[in-house]
Amino acid sequence: MSTPAPRLGMTDEAGQRVLRTVRDDVRAIAAYEVHAQAGAIKLDAMESPYGLPEAVRDQVAAAVRAVEFNRYPDSAPAALVAQVREAFGVPSEADLLFGNGSDELIGMLVQATCTPGDVVLTPWPSFVYFDLAARFHHARFVPVPLTEDLQLDLAATIAAIEAHRPKLVFLAMPNNPTGGLWPREAVRAILQAAPGLVVVDEAYQAFTDETWMPRAAQEPNLAVLRTLSKIGLAGLRFGYLAAHPAWIRELNKVRPPYNIDSATLAALSVVLANKPALDEQAARVRAARPALAVALRALPGTTVFDSAGNFLLVRFARGGDAVFQALKARNILVRNFSGAHPLLANCLRISIGSPDENAALLAALNAILTD
Ligand code: PMP
Repeated sequence: MSTPAPRLGMTDEAGQRVLRTVRDDVRAIAAYEVHAQAGAIKLDAMESPYGLPEAVRDQVAAAVRAVEFNRYPDSAPAALVAQVREAFGVPSEADLLFGNGSDELIGMLVQATCTPGDVVLTPWPSFVYFDLAARFHHARFVPVPLTEDLQLDLAATIAAIEAHRPKLVFLAMPNNPTGGLWPREAVRAILQAAPGLVVVDEAYQAFTDETWMPRAAQEPNLAVLRTLSKIGLAGLRFGYLAAHPAWIRELNKVRPPYNIDSATLAALSVVLANKPALDEQAARVRAARPALAVALRALPGTTVFDSAGNFLLVRFARGGDAVFQALKARNILVRNFSGAHPLLANCLRISIGSPDENAALLAALNAILTD
């Protein structure tokens, strides 16, 4: 990539055609941001701080070496489906759908259920891709504001479900970026009220005991979405959806052919055979959470929200933008939500890192906030 891309001025021919051709709403949004900063302590994307153990890497290399790359993949081979069921406690009555990351499954859910103008509803703020996926597929996105203390507003959610009759309700549990878990009775009430499908997105399930997975095929309108991204495999791009077979049968029709590639399939099989190593890493991250929360709360002018995920949302009286920039200047990347939503004013989301990374974060914040 040595040649710089030519600048695309809106006066040249390509620019004019872009203007005439690309959807207004697509041109109006910013692309999903991925931050790169050489040598930075990366606490901005809820990645695991831990890499795969050496022995597992060797097995992955051997498995990928044996892949027949001249052939299209079988993107849901029976042996791997069985391995995923076993590794993640998917009930036998539920069927599974695999996605190239859970992002892809979120898009497929909207595609399969919504015709233009149909509603996708979610408590908000939550994962931004619920909004983007709805818009890309011409659905109407209805965000229901959380309470001031960033909890689910059940009465408002039920009222909005009754008013808008959503095809899809997304419940991220734990919720990104706030870290909260919605009470089981609240989810039950939402399942009862929702006329369409309720997707419980358990991207951060590895860091809590709470799960709806055992109910995945028991409820007529529940689907449970998971990803491997937060347990050390963000680079692998693999998510799965569990639901009653009647849902999976239809959703599978909008899955792009061969959506999971052969290298991922080969690596996944090895990694799942070594799942205890991933569990142990996730447990280490989870175990670090209470002490990090206590230490962050002890800093001047911070409000730390309770989190069941591998991250903490922190409000800074000093100003979220200022603290974000000061951390960045010290080569520590976190996610700035200050301007994202009024409920998140001055809030930064901070992934839980390794002990050294957490210590560096605390030292930096200490210096910034007491300066
Ligand atoms: N769901 C939630 C709630 C998330 O926060 C994320 C990642 N930020 C995802 C889904 C997507 O994860 P992936 O595409 O990496 O599987």
